[in-house]
Amino acid sequence: MAGTATPQGPSPVALPSSVALPSSVALPSPVALPSSVALPSPVALPSSVALPSPVPLPSPGDRTSDVVVVGAGPAGSSAAWHLARSGLDVALLEKARFPRDKVCGDGLTPRGVKALDDMGVDTSPAAGWVRHRGLRVRGGGRVVEVDWPQLRRWPDFGLVRTRRDLDALLAAHAQAAGTRLHTGVTVTGPLLDDAGRVAGVRGEGPDGEPLTWRARLVVSAEGCSGRLAKALGLHRREDRPLGVAVRRYVRTPRTHDDYLDISFDLAPGGPSAESMPGYGWIFGLGDGTANVGYGLLDSRRGRGDQRAVLRKWLATLPPEWQLDDDHAVSPLRGAGLPMALHRAPAYGRGLLLAGDAVGAVNPFNGEGISYAMETGRMAAETAARALAAPEGPAREAELRRYPARLRAEYGRHHRLGIGFLALLSRPDVVRFTTAHGLPRPVLVAVALRLMGNLTDGRDGDGVDRAIAAITRLVPAV
Ligand SMILES: Cc1cc2nc3c(=O)[nH]c(=O)nc-3n(C[C@H](O)[C@H](O)[C@H](O)COP(=O)(O)OP(=O)(O)OC[C@H]3O[C@@H](n4cnc5c(N)ncnc54)[C@H](O)[C@@H]3O)c2cc1C
Repeated sequence: MAGTATPQGPSPVALPSSVALPSSVALPSPVALPSSVALPSPVALPSSVALPSPVPLPSPGDRTSDVVVVGAGPAGSSAAWHLARSGLDVALLEKARFPRDKVCGDGLTPRGVKALDDMGVDTSPAAGWVRHRGLRVRGGGRVVEVDWPQLRRWPDFGLVRTRRDLDALLAAHAQAAGTRLHTGVTVTGPLLDDAGRVAGVRGEGPDGEPLTWRARLVVSAEGCSGRLAKALGLHRREDRPLGVAVRRYVRTPRTHDDYLDISFDLAPGGPSAESMPGYGWIFGLGDGTANVGYGLLDSRRGRGDQRAVLRKWLATLPPEWQLDDDHAVSPLRGAGLPMALHRAPAYGRGLLLAGDAVGAVNPFNGEGISYAMETGRMAAETAARALAAPEGPAREAELRRYPARLRAEYGRHHRLGIGFLALLSRPDVVRFTTAHGLPRPVLVAVALRLMGNLTDGRDGDGVDRAIAAITRLVPAV
């Protein structure tokens, strides 16, 4: 993996390659940010996937399953797919109807590709996926392109797909595996048994009618809102970072791009106290549009208004890229990025948390889609093992292993990410590091593998083994 640096200009030079990267952008959460610009045309992004089939709710007596999964984002659909494949009866309840928009950068790193591959999703260009080969990083007045690393554990390419398509496709995939998907169903709270254990959910059906759905276990994959977890007293940990990101779609000549384009130079003078710790992104969607946004990775540290930072940054870019308000095709919207396992414990009283609901976003870069799918799978595997055990202490012991599994998987990496955010919040450090680090391909390669959590671990090359050694030195979050 090598990278090449060039002085920054409108079009970066092609560079060699292969580093693993800070992955795409992703950011905080339920902060609904209204659009503040007059928009030429409202979100005109048609879905190009086969949609899940609408299925009427069964009669009240039949609203029961082994597992209920709440929320059909990447975490919920992944959990449901894996549960259905393990032979369990699973209901997936989603308040929206597909296709629906989701505020996101739409970028998937090789981790995301692997999670899709593991579920047998066809990620070929013929199936409508846009592939990219790495990251283009702008900082300190330099531009470097780095390819995703060549590793045994991970594919060497990433993907871009609108969430309008991705989420509909994954929900349909879960349905095809046997999941009973019901959309237009808003879950309002847990159904508790006499012992205070979750025995299903309460909610409202498509016409606002109250309903209950009974299950032996419930997976909350509701995203940031975490309504079910809160009802059990599982509140967000304030000592963990919460990012906030904003994005919109624009019609632009920058629609075809082999790289995810990210920038730390968000103002004419480079990184500032307003914009750090964070970055801006331009992800070409290959259909005449791009997803353009800015993510503040730690809202405890950032001082600026995210929409203002985005606009200021866009004003520094070449006008011929057409990323300005006049070329927007959607409102500017924002949401939160819950990081570093911010809601704990991840299991309690019959409820497992996955995806943003447990705060699985990578603090290094705001990537959350792949971690949503991974935690969905781990929650499903836990549930399947638990339900195969006799009811009582043996089953409960299986379920209680889930929080430890998440910490073992991500805890040390998240701890390093929290430290990284402290550095990234200092504009002087970012300016120095990008100006002096980006021209050094080996350094970029190491940084990007670490940030993107893309290595072969102790089985890998020298870089991977060094990262594994550093990671082992820190305690898990
Ligand atoms: C601006 C922005 C840009 C981002 N860019 C990227 C990126 O480029 N790459 C990346 O990897 N990550 C990115 N992320 C992060 C990523 O979007 C999230 O981490 C990811 O969506 C988490 O998936 P999830 O399935 O856990 O939750 P969600 O995607 O939020 O899905 C939750 C689902 O639950 C449903 N739901 C919620 N409450 C209820 C209820 N009470 N009853 C029924 N259904 C309910 C919702 O309708 C939704 O469908 C970005 C985030 C933001 C805000």
